Amino acid sequence: MEQGDASRQALTLARRFGEPRSARMDAVQPYAPDALAAALAQAADELEAAAVFAAGTERGNDVMARLAARSGLPLAANCIDATPGVPVAVTRLRWGGSLLEEARLHSPRPLITVAPHSVPADTGPAPAEVGLKASGDSELVVRVVDHVAPRGGGVSLAEAKVIVSGGRGVGSKEGFAMIEELASLLGAAVGCSRAVTSAGWRPHTDQVGQTGTKVAPEVYIACGISGATQHMAGLKGAKRILAINSDPQAPLMLNADYTVTGDLKEIVPAISAEIRKRR
Ligand SMILES: Cc1cc2nc3c(=O)[nH]c(=O)nc-3n(C[C@H](O)[C@H](O)[C@H](O)COP(=O)(O)OP(=O)(O)OC[C@H]3O[C@@H](n4cnc5c(N)ncnc54)[C@H](O)[C@@H]3O)c2cc1C
Repeated sequence: MEQGDASRQALTLARRFGEPRSARMDAVQPYAPDALAAALAQAADELEAAAVFAAGTERGNDVMARLAARSGLPLAANCIDATPGVPVAVTRLRWGGSLLEEARLHSPRPLITVAPHSVPADTGPAPAEVGLKASGDSELVVRVVDHVAPRGGGVSLAEAKVIVSGGRGVGSKEGFAMIEELASLLGAAVGCSRAVTSAGWRPHTDQVGQTGTKVAPEVYIACGISGATQHMAGLKGAKRILAINSDPQAPLMLNADYTVTGDLKEIVPAISAEIRKRR
């Protein structure tokens, strides 16, 4: 399922289970995960597939979870290894990559998604393709009806060289004005922790971490973020971290390259003022 590197990585593990066939995630337009899952279930039955693999992307995991629910077959998500047999042995990434789980799947047809960038991409010939077709309207209840561009049109979080990120310590939605100001002076993207998105101060698209965006900037400036494991899971690619926090023992302070201990409401505007002065 799906095109690109992630699907070729999934193909690497799929080849161990026999001659693979491929199906395209964009076969059903617009994206409708239940319709794809239904079509995939039918194709797997017709082919008597030994296993079904997909890239462990958001959509890959979405469709495979729905396939598991409708077929009653077990799903192992975010695998980095899979060995055929009875049972099938898999190794899965857990907790944003901080834990590896060895699991056994007792199933005539295991469903497996492959964690992106954890397995070399397959370089063999492209497998023969099976066509997937959307069935009745009842499968289209969940479907993409519109695309909304992220507001602001600023620097993309995933590609930003500098990110200024705020946590609960920022205190309010309005408090993010000083984070945005510093980001704008640095040509940076604005990020945040899940405490912030849960409070409704910023949209989910700004969230960094295990259930947000994984970032790889040259510099990540964390303001009032404690550094929970799930937040740090999104920072593994950051080259340098500057943490600003009133608690010098906060995990992010202990893991940062540079730290400033104190009230971010004084420190962040002071940095912005200093940058302005030097221009
Ligand atoms: C399954 C799961 C997935 C999750 N996924 C994510 C994820 O993707 N991303 C994520 O971020 N979290 C995620 N979380 C939540 C995570 O566990 C933490 O709850 C969250 O990261 C905490 O956010 P925070 O650091 O902003 O808040 P807190 O932990 O409350 O930390 C606030 C920090 O601000 C500091 N502070 C307070 N006032 C000031 C001030 N005036 N000046 C300076 N510093 C100040 C405090 O000392 C503290 O360190 C997930 C949790 C679960 C269970």
